[in-house]
Order: sequence, then C-alpha cells, then structure tokens
Amino acid sequence: MNCTRIAPLLDAYAHGELDAPTAREVEAHVTECGRCRASLRGQQALQAALAQAASEDRVPASLRARIRRRLAAEAGGAPASGRRDWLLAAPGLAALALAGYLLFAPRQGPPSGAHTGEPRVVYHVAAAGNASAVLRTLTNHLDATPGLKVVVVAHNDGIEFLLAGARDESGTEYAARVRELRRRGVDFRVCSNTLTRRRIDAGAVIAEAVLVPSGIAEISRLQSQEGYTYLRL
Ligand SMILES: [Zn+2]
Repeated sequence: MNCTRIAPLLDAYAHGELDAPTAREVEAHVTECGRCRASLRGQQALQAALAQAASEDRVPASLRARIRRRLAAEAGGAPASGRRDWLLAAPGLAALALAGYLLFAPRQGPPSGAHTGEPRVVYHVAAAGNASAVLRTLTNHLDATPGLKVVVVAHNDGIEFLLAGARDESGTEYAARVRELRRRGVDFRVCSNTLTRRRIDAGAVIAEAVLVPSGIAEISRLQSQEGYTYLRL
C-alpha cells in the first residue's frame, strides 16, 4: 500500500492526464485499496456532475435529492439546516461544485500524523475564465463551513486573476475580491514554474498572493503532509 504516493495522483488519473505506466500503477493500487478507490470514485462522480452542470447549468433533481439526504444525515436525521439551503436553491456551476465536494469528498481521516482538526481544502485553479465562479464558490464554502481553511493554488492559465490589474466580468479588480478573502484567512499561491514558462515577471503578481516553486508540488504537499482535501475548479 502506498497511499501517500497514489492519493495525489487520483485527480490527474480521473482527468486522464497520467502517462500509461503511472496510470497502471494507480489502477493496481485502487483494486487493492478501498480508501483510494472511494476517493477516485468521488473524483469521477464530481467530474461527471460538473460536466453535466456545464451542459445544463442547473442542479439535476436526482443530485438535489442526494444533497438533501446527505445534509439530513449529517444533521443527525434532522432536516437540512437553513444555512445550507442556498445549496439547494442556487443553480449553476459554482453551487454544484460545492455540492459535489460535500457529497463526494472522502469521508475518511487524513493520513496518519496529519492534521485532524478543522477542515482544510486546497482549491486547484488551472484554467482562465472561471476565476469569478471560483471566488464565489469559495465565499459560499467559507460561509457554510465554520473554521474552514482554504489554500488556493493557481497554475497554468489559472494564474491570470492573480496578476496586477486583472478584472472580472463586471470590471471589478480581482485584487479587491482576493483581499477580502485574504481577510477571511484564505491563502493564494502562484506557481513560479508557470511564470517562468510564460515569461511573466514575478512583480506582476498581486501582493495578496505568494509564489511557490511548483503549483503541483504544493498541492501534493498540502494533501500528503497537511491533510488537505483536494478540490479542482
Ligand atoms: Zn490507498
């Protein structure tokens, strides 16, 4: 069993991004390890839900029903609490992404020796164009989860909203929205490899974000050493 090595690869596997030998290694592991198998199923189900949301832009009735059951179960059989009702009412990709997280995030504990207290989630932002939805989801996630710690790791085209002067679709500077989330304890980390590859000067990154050598290594470290749950948006 080598969950420490395999767990950080599951999302890339689910996205079909691994080379063939590594993919076979993951497949061999999940046939033997129930925990990683469950985690992989969660990733695949979340992806399927996101794909469906992208095509329909609404929460399917069957998923709403599952969310209701999950929230009721978490509340010890009581009806879903009002604070989470926005999940059921709010249509759209951002709500569904969070719904997917609540439904499918692995329920097992973090690796031994890792953090066991408040929930920790790393948001992986790899694409341009959805930063607004990511920040909205993140805000809802913080509202719904007292004590939640979030680290946003941006790489590839996902770094753009963290560059000076970047604005959202309403013309608001992302820096203002990022600053507000920083105030709520969210950390923003930018992949230096991406900056180098795209020949972007480090000075172009807004002051609210910090640089890390490699976005992927940072995500892997947060999962394997600090007990973070991975969420890709
Ligand atoms: Zn495993």
